[in-house]
Amino acid sequence: MVDLVNSQDFKARDEAIEQLAARLGVRAERGRRFAELTSLRVGGAVDWVISPETEAQAAAVVHELDQARIAWRALGSGSNVLADDGNHRYVILSVKELKGEPQFDETRVSVSAGYSLPRLCIDVARRGLSGIEGLGGIPGTAGGALWMNAGAYGHEIGTVTESVRVARDGRVDEVPGNSVKWDYRHTSFREGDLLLGATLSLTEDDSEKIQARMNEAKERRLASQPHGARSAGCFFKNPPASTTGTGKIIDDMGMKGARRGSAVVSPVHANFIVTEGDDARASDAIALAEEIRERVKREQGIDLEYEVELWRANEPSERAPEESEPEGSDEKGA
Ligand SMILES: Cc1cc2nc3c(=O)[nH]c(=O)nc-3n(C[C@H](O)[C@H](O)[C@H](O)COP(=O)(O)OP(=O)(O)OC[C@H]3O[C@@H](n4cnc5c(N)ncnc54)[C@H](O)[C@@H]3O)c2cc1C
Repeated sequence: MVDLVNSQDFKARDEAIEQLAARLGVRAERGRRFAELTSLRVGGAVDWVISPETEAQAAAVVHELDQARIAWRALGSGSNVLADDGNHRYVILSVKELKGEPQFDETRVSVSAGYSLPRLCIDVARRGLSGIEGLGGIPGTAGGALWMNAGAYGHEIGTVTESVRVARDGRVDEVPGNSVKWDYRHTSFREGDLLLGATLSLTEDDSEKIQARMNEAKERRLASQPHGARSAGCFFKNPPASTTGTGKIIDDMGMKGARRGSAVVSPVHANFIVTEGDDARASDAIALAEEIRERVKREQGIDLEYEVELWRANEPSERAPEESEPEGSDEKGA
């Protein structure tokens, strides 16, 4: 076992990763950067990207990484992640290759975590299945949507999730959807849970009506959000105690178009931070986000919470077993 808890023995870790990739037949790459893996197109180097192609393979990979206490993080399309510019010395477990065709059984659909959410919305609408048409314009994978209970225009993925397949002890474990807490852009899945897929339970409706509702949601999105810009969607959550959305709060402070280096508050939607240029830096986006947070706190007394996940290069750190928190206490933060 490569014990990285108290050592920086990356050579031994790298050998262990090469061996497990060869043994399990998965692609393991070096030399990738978050700037090519995330929609904001910023962020530093990643030590390893491992890309399993089946759910069973993915479950086996994370089990072996856990056993060897090698730090890893799951990544879908990277459309909700802002990784900083540092060297991220952990493994990215990419789920993007877990994308077999969805399996239909009457009003149910089983989908793997790497399947595109927009494509899934089109597939189910064509079959006359309703329940996720409001999510049609949300970029990313089904797994990313499940992880943070993605939602838009009155639909949230958690509402229609009958069960989720999660990697546990090297196996594919089926977790009932009603045992998961589905909150606003937050779920009770825990750090270390790799979501492999899900079964959604939908409702029959007229296919054309579903597609019309989906197109309407997409048009509303196109009219109110920057199109083709490099963003991670809404940067901050809406404040729970306020009837005013975060975009309007930031807009009212006159911050549309505010810039920090390569990061800009979108002139179209003030809750979108967009990046510009080939050498855009995460530090600019973080500095701009913090400037917004400070001003909103000072002028409105509101604590804005990030909706985008900020990944620091010095996290996650490997934890010794005795440092582990008790069962149930380590739900992921929003
Ligand atoms: C233009 C734009 C518009 C957007 N609009 C919306 C919107 O209307 N509503 C909304 O909810 N979001 C929106 N988003 C945010 C984003 O698209 C969603 O959060 C999406 O569901 C993220 O999916 P992803 O595959 O890109 O996840 P990633 O960004 O890759 O990952 C996000 C988080 O999920 C975790 N994760 C991903 N896959 C797995 C897995 N299989 N197992 C365990 N953990 C996993 C990652 O570790 C990370 O913590 C928007 C983003 C953009 C760029």
